[in-house]
Amino acid sequence: GYKYLINAVVTYRYMVEQILKEGDTAVDCTVGNGNDTVLLAEKVGPKGKVYGFDIQKKALDITYNKLKERKLEDRVILINDDHKNLGKYINNMVKLGIFNLGYLPKGDRSIVTRKETTLQGILQLLNLLQNNGMAFIASYTGHREGYIENKGIEDFLKKLNQKKFGVVKFDFINQINNPPILYEIEKL
Ligand code: SAM
Repeated sequence: GYKYLINAVVTYRYMVEQILKEGDTAVDCTVGNGNDTVLLAEKVGPKGKVYGFDIQKKALDITYNKLKERKLEDRVILINDDHKNLGKYINNMVKLGIFNLGYLPKGDRSIVTRKETTLQGILQLLNLLQNNGMAFIASYTGHREGYIENKGIEDFLKKLNQKKFGVVKFDFINQINNPPILYEIEKL
């Protein structure tokens, strides 16, 4: 069977599969190699919509090709901009959004998500969530920038009004070498 407590990414992907329904709007705030964008596009179906953000054009090109191979490109809007600006591009309410932070696997390690812009992006995503909408954040503490970013995220999420948001932290406490932490936020 499916093992879903292996790491942050596997865990949120499992939950995305349960939560997203046909016709939903979803946001991939860090498109990267596009694996999550593809999953979101599959789940929302032909009547749904997916917005994908990345500051690296290269990532969006790779992702566009993946979508096209699967005939999913029509329901996805790829945006070559910082996720701190996501509110400028999205005017519908959002069922689910993902931040998979850090740098592109095998890519340029200097192009990495950073606390300030990540927090702006998270705030905007939370403002767009519909009732029962969900946000997932995979946060990497093993590199310096990520450690600082994660601290900022946790401080921010701890202060969210509990009447408005449910916030859960998944910490893989029996794993070595700073495994990524997963945060799940529900708009109540
Ligand atoms: N979800 C991706 C996948 O399935 O392959 C992996 C995402 S990767 C860990 C993080 C991505 O965030 C990188 O592609 C990087 O270019 C992008 N990124 C970094 N800072 C960003 C920002 N401020 N706004 C949008 N994307 C950003």
